[in-house]
Amino acid sequence: FFLAIGQFQQGRAAIRRVDELTVLPQEGGVLDRMRHKSKPAPAKKSLSADKEAVEFRDVRFSYSAGDDAAETLRDVTFSVASRGMTAIVGPSGAGKTTLFQLVERFHALDGGAILVGGKDIETMPLSTLRGLVGYVQQDTAAMRGTIRENVVYAEPDASDEQIREVLELAGLTKVVDAMPDGLDTELGDQGSGLSGGQRQRLCIARALLQKPAVLLLDEATSHLDSDSEREFRETLSKVSSRCAVIAIAHRISTVVDADKIVVMADGRVQDSGKHDELMKRSALYHRLANSQLQAAHMTEPPAQVP
Ligand code: ADP
Ligand code: MG
Repeated sequence: FFLAIGQFQQGRAAIRRVDELTVLPQEGGVLDRMRHKSKPAPAKKSLSADKEAVEFRDVRFSYSAGDDAAETLRDVTFSVASRGMTAIVGPSGAGKTTLFQLVERFHALDGGAILVGGKDIETMPLSTLRGLVGYVQQDTAAMRGTIRENVVYAEPDASDEQIREVLELAGLTKVVDAMPDGLDTELGDQGSGLSGGQRQRLCIARALLQKPAVLLLDEATSHLDSDSEREFRETLSKVSSRCAVIAIAHRISTVVDADKIVVMADGRVQDSGKHDELMKRSALYHRLANSQLQAAHMTEPPAQVP
């Protein structure tokens, strides 16, 4: 019986995905886009500074229908300003990645609402939503082609100047300039020649080319030692002066620098605030900051954790 439910769910998800593809012209490959030069009408991207960029209102979601105990997200409520950095921290399985997937409408909510720029995301065409919200996933997909091709993925008409601007924001200018063919350097199947952190920053550059109002960043954990902490901090600080950044954070430096930290556990928001407040107030945050976050930080000792 449970198997049947599972299959039904999968079927439903698949149908939803097919649905989405039909309304999402930019899902096509880059070559398709290059061939058909016509673009979807550009959405108005910049959100007014007084508006919240993202609002989660009593968001509820479960992967399996019916069973309350199995709810992946429960009553998730918080808001994100239109500029600056919000860090989400929490133990593995807390529901952080799921929350991002809900903003991108990979799944439908079971309750509550998510607003982007004051509008319920359910009421927006998917292409508008995904133009407003850039999503950099934790595991960066295999990369083929050149640096340029990887950056212009969704904006094939971008000029070299625009490409260089986003590479600079992502802190990759030096890396790319040191490559044999610059922007035209072939990356190979696994994006070879780039560390995991650099690959993720290339994905940040790609997302920035679309000038999103919100950037969702599921921070990479596995390659921190090969990626300069300082460069990454600078990248986040530059990017968050242009749009709202929400980062699922594994680096203590990302968290310490954040304008707001949201602590999640068991699908709920346990607390939120600044680093110093949370260190005093939240046992869970204290534990995370001292263990998980610190453990992910192999190269330099964390500066500001007492
Ligand atoms: P986090 O990113 O905080 O580690 P996730 O959002 O990935 O947490 O997962 C939250 C919970 O949802 C976990 O218990 C996880 O096992 C479950 N989960 C994640 N993705 C799926 C999925 N596609 N189908 C069923 N359960 C899932
Ligand atoms: Mg995750």
